[in-house]
Amino acid sequence: MATLRFQALKETLNRPVVEIDESIRRSELFGKNVFNEASMRQYLTKDSFKSVTDAILTGSKISREVADHISTGMKEWAISKGATHYTHWFQPLTGGTAEKHDAFFETIGDGLAIEKFGGGQLVQQEPDASSFPNGGIRNTFEARGYTAWDPTSPAFVFGTTLCIPTVFVSYTGEALDNKTPLLRALQAVDSAATDVAKYFDKKVSKVNATLGWEQEYFLIDSALAASRPDLSVAGRTLLGHASAKGQQLDDHYFGSIPTRVLNYMRDLETQCMLLGIPVKTRHNEVAPNQFELAPIFEEANLAVDHNSLIMDVMRKVAERHKFVVLFHEKPFAGINGSGKHNNWSLSTDTGVNLLSPGSTPMKNLQFLTFFVNTIKAVCDNEELLRATIASASNDHRLGANEAPPAIISAFIGSQLTAVLDELEKVTDGKLSPQEKTDLKLNVVGKIPEILLDNTDRNRTSPFAFTGNKFEFRAVGSTANCAVPMTALNAMVAKQLNEFKVEVDALIKDKKMKKDDAIFNVLREYIKQSKKIRFEGDGYGEAWEKEAKKRGLSNNKTTPEALKANLDKKFIKLYEDLNIMNKVEIEARHEIQVEEYGMRIQIEGRLLGDIARNHVIPTAIRYQNLLIENVTGLKQIYGDDFKKHSEEQMNLIEVISDHIKQINKGITEMIEERKKANKKDAEKRAEAYCNKVKPYFDVIRYHCDKLELLVDDELWPLTKYRELLFTK
Ligand code: ADP
Ligand code: MG
Repeated sequence: MATLRFQALKETLNRPVVEIDESIRRSELFGKNVFNEASMRQYLTKDSFKSVTDAILTGSKISREVADHISTGMKEWAISKGATHYTHWFQPLTGGTAEKHDAFFETIGDGLAIEKFGGGQLVQQEPDASSFPNGGIRNTFEARGYTAWDPTSPAFVFGTTLCIPTVFVSYTGEALDNKTPLLRALQAVDSAATDVAKYFDKKVSKVNATLGWEQEYFLIDSALAASRPDLSVAGRTLLGHASAKGQQLDDHYFGSIPTRVLNYMRDLETQCMLLGIPVKTRHNEVAPNQFELAPIFEEANLAVDHNSLIMDVMRKVAERHKFVVLFHEKPFAGINGSGKHNNWSLSTDTGVNLLSPGSTPMKNLQFLTFFVNTIKAVCDNEELLRATIASASNDHRLGANEAPPAIISAFIGSQLTAVLDELEKVTDGKLSPQEKTDLKLNVVGKIPEILLDNTDRNRTSPFAFTGNKFEFRAVGSTANCAVPMTALNAMVAKQLNEFKVEVDALIKDKKMKKDDAIFNVLREYIKQSKKIRFEGDGYGEAWEKEAKKRGLSNNKTTPEALKANLDKKFIKLYEDLNIMNKVEIEARHEIQVEEYGMRIQIEGRLLGDIARNHVIPTAIRYQNLLIENVTGLKQIYGDDFKKHSEEQMNLIEVISDHIKQINKGITEMIEERKKANKKDAEKRAEAYCNKVKPYFDVIRYHCDKLELLVDDELWPLTKYRELLFTK
């Protein structure tokens, strides 16, 4: 009998209920473990408090002396929350988060000890981080890496550790993490958007990018997950026959949340409240055992940190509930995978959402300005945006006829399409008073009311306007949002800078009025960015053909998509805005390309092992049972045995054939891996993609067929049905 599988099933069925205490209101719990304004006021001197708030608002430097005060206050606060250790918490290029705990505890001689945390330790640390991916940066420059405090994202206590969000950079200044370029991009978009927003309101002095992510995930019982080597190692199943029932009845989506899962969510949400992560929405997703969680949107840097943090918290809380969280984009074949929609907008320090239509024509002109510029930015840089969401795991979604396609397009709905069509007809040059009145009354002035009943929802679009924000849907569930957010904000910053130059030129050289100039530039942008707009079915084959005609990229695999990173145009975009230089870009590219190859290599090895060491021996065991049966029948019936053993004999042959095909597939795959390993990183990734990966399907096919034939008692791998439907 397949012991581990049956043990796991038994364990799963006997899980005790985890009791959850929610007696304290969420609003009271919110931010309790965050060194936020309230705790800073309590633990910091007035001067230190002001210094931190200034740093947050204006990016001003904090002096060493003040840092000493702040660190002391922070330490006292953290200890009051039960912290014994502190860590610089950062986001290396692995995509996850990193931490190295140090105790506050220090000896002071004579057998005495104190708790200490100095300003120096708060502001800067030098973790021995030589094992993080750096794409050759540190070898080239022989530079060490250090972490530096990011005061714009508040410190928090998680468990018994004070976590201080930091950037991670080399001593020569190259970013070694995902946060540094993001912060630079956010600064660029702030400055560009503020300049443009000033056309409409002089009082605007800062624009924040906002991000509201939606995290999809699967929850699998930890014993069941542990019984599957593929889930444990690769985070997805590499084989497994489809369950008779999957998601075809649509009975999971928005269904009643299973009690065990709900308890997990409640527990998780309590932790989120303490950590100041404003989670708001929870529901069942389409696939069985798939769920989603979404917070209230926040300033993008904080939202990115919160998403990275929550992925960690989700795993930890899951341990208590004996669940494993699967963040992989495609843990199970044949049912939906997981994404992480990035809802994005721009918001001013005067409290205006720049992508929200307003109540007056002027406010709507502002809305249209940011709306059209965003579309233009995405149009001009679609291939870069595509590259930011490329990964071995997201390849299973993009271009694989599920979730948005690999083609980037923007959906805006029929009513806004009509508005843009009208604006496209605006006179070239100065507008007549009549035309302006007309525009204001009938086009620009009409936006709020039409958007209210704009219920258009196109689920197949990778980049959709949803009323007051754009929703970038192609982001993968394992992704660090910093990567797509860096690109999106950078391209919008560049676009807004160009817009400002063009409008100013028309005002100055052509003596146009401000709104005439704006209308004129927008008209051209609308024309130039038409090809990115698509309202139809993004999954259809027709769109692929149409997109090709329009000259849009359709990079279906990661190695293909990543090439855009090295496109001169995109390197220039990042360099001009001081977001990343060529060295940083190339380093990141190398890391991604190498990671891709390694991930497929790991999966290939794993699949080979499982198929050869689990599946084939099991098939042989079952075949032996059949042979025994046939031999027995022959003993009883003599020459007449064939009449009674026809099916068994047939099965014996079918099993032999599957075994042969599996073995052949594995041998050939290994040969291809050997060839691939000899190539340089770029070519290796391509070989893994085009030569190695195709064998996965072949090997899997025969393994899955065997799963259907072999005695259930013998089958060692927990089945899809059990993984997806055991509650
Ligand atoms: P759905 O898209 O599922 O219909 P909502 O429209 O309520 O749901 O929003 C989904 C996500 O969009 C939420 O996480 C929300 O916080 C976020 N969101 C809403 N407004 C903004 C905004 N101005 N900027 C960024 N994210 C936003
Ligand atoms: Mg949504």
